[in-house]
Amino acid sequence: RRTPLIAGNWKMNLDHLQAIAFVQKLAWNLKDAGHDFTAVEAAVFPPFTDLRSVQTLISADKLELGFGAQDISAHDSGAYTGEISGAFLSQLECQYVIIGHSERRTLHNETDAEVSAKIQAALRNNLVPIICVGETAADLEEHGPSAVPVAQLRAALASVSNAADIVVAYEPVWAIGSGKAATPEQAEQVAAQLRSVLQESLGQDVADKTRILYGGSVKSGNIAAYMREPNVDGALVGGASLDIAEFSSIVRFQK
Ligand code: 13P
Repeated sequence: RRTPLIAGNWKMNLDHLQAIAFVQKLAWNLKDAGHDFTAVEAAVFPPFTDLRSVQTLISADKLELGFGAQDISAHDSGAYTGEISGAFLSQLECQYVIIGHSERRTLHNETDAEVSAKIQAALRNNLVPIICVGETAADLEEHGPSAVPVAQLRAALASVSNAADIVVAYEPVWAIGSGKAATPEQAEQVAAQLRSVLQESLGQDVADKTRILYGGSVKSGNIAAYMREPNVDGALVGGASLDIAEFSSIVRFQK
């Protein structure tokens, strides 16, 4: 019922020349394997400076890969040195934008209020926000697995309408880049809680149709187990999204 989404967050890796070669090879690789993009959606999230090149390639070669940005300004234009607006991203035909990644929250002190303003900016500009939530190891010890992600999602959804198209990504901070992935049971437990928040905040229809991704040390060897969980609808992949064969295998997971 919910089309799985496998999203590759490149973070600050691959320049625009590397991106062109990478996306071309990735698309060929998936096509050669007979991948059905309508059955499992695949999308890449390059740095801002790659987006124009990636857009040009995807549209010229009619590739079925989706793409988006890793961040967005809360503002649409004006005196905001260094910021990138949602209007620019939609001009580049981005479908998605990652918002509130833990690296933004911790390294750039992004608050729930900023995350919420960025979600509004994405929605105003017809971009689907991938709203990231997740607890640190200290949060886990102090509050258990779901308290922090649940609070972050409640705050993020406070001014979202129930007509909005959104994606939620649960990324436990302790599992990111650590090789210590959450177990499928842990991911499912939090994803189920997050789906209840969607239901309370935006109603049953939104809760039923919204995809919840798991992120944190996802690889070709563990993706199938997550995808067997009823509330996990895909993955947000960091390190493993930078290897074409590995990312293709993740996209082509078998339940
Ligand atoms: P890793 O897959 O490298 O653990 O990163 C996850 C992540 O942060 C994706 O946004």
